[in-house]
Amino acid sequence: MATNITWHEGLTHAERVELRGQQGLTIWFTGLSASGKSTIATALEQHLLNARKINAYRLDGDNIRFGLNKDLGFSEADRNENIRRIAEVSKLFADSAAVALTSFISPYRADRDSARALHDKAGLPFVEVFVDIPVEVAEQRDPKGLYKKARAGEIKEFTGISAPYEAPLKPEVHILNDKITVEQAVQQIVEYLEAQKYI
Ligand code: ADP
Repeated sequence: MATNITWHEGLTHAERVELRGQQGLTIWFTGLSASGKSTIATALEQHLLNARKINAYRLDGDNIRFGLNKDLGFSEADRNENIRRIAEVSKLFADSAAVALTSFISPYRADRDSARALHDKAGLPFVEVFVDIPVEVAEQRDPKGLYKKARAGEIKEFTGISAPYEAPLKPEVHILNDKITVEQAVQQIVEYLEAQKYI
């Protein structure tokens, strides 16, 4: 643990928001594997960048594990640490007056609440988006064949099969993603962001 360190105060968040002309925030997607988090987050990122000219960047579950979090596995402790680091990184993006989109299963309520608390403490908006589908539908979609492997016992501690998923109690946006299209899901989030005047 570092002790001889002091926080360096540079530009304030308000100054960055003013200079960039956009709000910084984190949009935190949570849901089962294959619920549609990455697909919706990517479509939203594209919409924000292209149609709105808003700087947005998506932190993706697998991609982060290739680099920043390549030392972590899928035990509960490692999943906690995975989410803690993502929360810190998304907070930096939000603080820079960008829109951070995170697409991670993030199955534990306490971890997501910690991510939220981190943003709250810094005065940065945190929008939890629950991408909700029944596990049977996720299992049918299964584009990466992961449920199949989990059922065969080839993947241990697989969320929804052999590890828990704790659904959000009060997400800012609740998407019933077995009932609507990706475009409708994006629209639902955009309407929330507009209503809050975040975009
Ligand atoms: P996750 O990131 O949650 O693991 P993905 O974004 O990879 O999930 O989506 C899983 C699969 O479900 C993909 O094949 C994707 O095309 C499909 N999908 C996502 N959203 C919808 C939707 N609203 N309707 C139908 N299929 C969808």
